[in-house]
Amino acid sequence: MLLIGIDDTDSRQGRCTTHLAYRVVDFLSSNGYELGEYPFLARLNPNIPWKTRGNGAVCIKVDVDMSSREGEHVMEAVKDMVASNSMLGYGANPGVVFLDSCSSMEPITKFARDALWRVMSLKSAKRVIEECKERYNANIEYTSMGNGQGIVGALASIGLASMRLEDHTFEVIAYRRHEMYGMPRLVDEASVIAMDEATHPYTFNNYDYKHARVLITPHGPDPVLFGVRGDDPSIILDALAMLKVHEPLEGYMLFRSNQGTNAHLANMLDASNLKAYTSGYLHGTVASEPVTIEGGHTFFALDCSRGKVLCAVYEPTGLSPIAQMLSIGDTLEVGGGVRKGTSKHPKVLNVEYMKVIDLARKVRYMNPLCVCGKRLKSEGRGKGYGCKYCGYRVRDAEKVEVEVPRHIGPGLYLPDLKAHRHLTKPLKRYSIKPGGMRLDIDWFKRYM
Ligand code: ATP
Repeated sequence: MLLIGIDDTDSRQGRCTTHLAYRVVDFLSSNGYELGEYPFLARLNPNIPWKTRGNGAVCIKVDVDMSSREGEHVMEAVKDMVASNSMLGYGANPGVVFLDSCSSMEPITKFARDALWRVMSLKSAKRVIEECKERYNANIEYTSMGNGQGIVGALASIGLASMRLEDHTFEVIAYRRHEMYGMPRLVDEASVIAMDEATHPYTFNNYDYKHARVLITPHGPDPVLFGVRGDDPSIILDALAMLKVHEPLEGYMLFRSNQGTNAHLANMLDASNLKAYTSGYLHGTVASEPVTIEGGHTFFALDCSRGKVLCAVYEPTGLSPIAQMLSIGDTLEVGGGVRKGTSKHPKVLNVEYMKVIDLARKVRYMNPLCVCGKRLKSEGRGKGYGCKYCGYRVRDAEKVEVEVPRHIGPGLYLPDLKAHRHLTKPLKRYSIKPGGMRLDIDWFKRYM
């Protein structure tokens, strides 16, 4: 089995690595090669500053011996396709890794797990490749263009595609015909809503009802018309058939993916040594009353066992009003990415979810109540209290503790759908088990 990892072929000006994978699969299947699985669409650390959009990379598994003549033919064809279908000179730094194995290799799986939440160097990717050659006698090769940073994602996608993931999802991506690139996407909104309702809860992030917005269509000049994500491949294909699309498709392909699984937030961050651009979670107690600044962003300090961390809850996440209801002493788990500190701004954790574990008791001290039921008024320091309604007076009373009602409850708080990252686990998936791959359905189609 040959594993082909590809990354960093696109730029904001156009193209898409998943579309290149679609073209590679088209080439492979039309030349008679067997694909044992759907390609894997890996989403890596979303807080990497040099990503183009969603930090995606793909891995394709094809049944061919890498050292055979066919294997060489496949590798040459893939290299040519990457060279001619990448945005070289416009910010793309493609990397392709070929591995002749279907069993996972520890250095690669470790590298892939780390690439989900840390910043990985190109040097470390090359070191892992050399280690696999030396320690496992692995048949592994790579090729790169530009600065070659794409090798990082290409290697990580191979690692994720070959390991047993605790969770996974699927996505069908439909591609536009070339003449439609850059034009408005002609997908009927009502059909998206109908599809969302009919396939609930087995598809996710189709439509944002709060903001009346279609979520399945991207906005750039890339070849993707739409993508439907979910847990069951055949339900996803049903969903595809339900959509009313008023432009011709080039085709579509199903991917297996780690999207919608929170895979980037699985690690607890070290509050005493927060590294810029890492992703993960923290446990702690709220150490400062939340402060909301202009623009609606809310900040609070979280006291974790190894240090204090400033947490930022940005307005577009929709979580800012929730954060405003927190109070000193509340126990939380927060997940997110570390924003680099600058001379103007401290390092902060950009909050992607909040789990309120325990709420602190909030009290106020007030004047005692009068026998008539009204609140007494202080007569001055050490002079006791009096009632202006019934005239009752008392000298030796003290202020009483009154519990302040909390307007937030324990539980999980997720961002608005429009602010979800590709990796964010949607609420409806918390009660769903990942589905299996189905090869007996039309998981790849080319119409032209
Ligand atoms: P798209 O989602 O449109 O495919 P993208 O957001 O995936 O684009 P790329 O153009 O692929 O962006 O660029 C991401 C770059 O970051 C790649 O070079 C990839 O190898 C690299 N990269 C991915 N994860 C990490 C990581 N954890 N550490 C360092 N580099 C990474």
